[in-house]
Amino acid sequence: MGEQVAEAAEGGADYVHVDVMDGRFVPNLTFGPAMVQAIRRWTDLPLDVHMMVASPEQYVEETAQAGADIITVHAESSAHLHKVVQAVRDAGSKPGVAINPATPPSAIEEIVAEVDMVLVMSVNPGWGGQKFISGAVDKIRRVRAMLDELGLDAEIEVDGGIDPNTARAVAEAGADVLVAGSAVYGGAAAVADAIARIRAKAMGA
Ligand code: ZN
Repeated sequence: MGEQVAEAAEGGADYVHVDVMDGRFVPNLTFGPAMVQAIRRWTDLPLDVHMMVASPEQYVEETAQAGADIITVHAESSAHLHKVVQAVRDAGSKPGVAINPATPPSAIEEIVAEVDMVLVMSVNPGWGGQKFISGAVDKIRRVRAMLDELGLDAEIEVDGGIDPNTARAVAEAGADVLVAGSAVYGGAAAVADAIARIRAKAMGA
């Protein structure tokens, strides 16, 4: 995994997105802070840690110490979202907030001023290689409008089903950060070429 992370860094990636899954908030089980720390040694790129876990507050401190630059928690995962976001900030990482496909932008209206990133899920979290949910494009547009209206400069990130075919629409709608897994690692193309192709499409080439 370290070698694949290094390959993405050399291939022009801007961030390394790390999906942490606990087998509760999402059915899949991946890894936790120890793996974040192991990945940290392979790249200087910002580690963007996506916490798909039921009780994110339990892991904030450890994940920050493991070297996460950004820790994104799901709006659906905590009844005390504001407190978790503050805990991320206090631990020295940048907080992000994520919303699932069925969660409207209004659910994060009261927290967006406190975060550096808003993650719009364009698939249901927990499995790789899913098909892009097209309603995400309009949702990105609405999140962009909300941020603009409030005068906030948080980045909008989109995660799930991103490939050269979906990159343009999400970028046009206002996404700043595009997460790609299968489209980068799952094909026959070299990692650098796969990244370049998605970036070119996002930029309108
Ligand atoms: Zn993710």
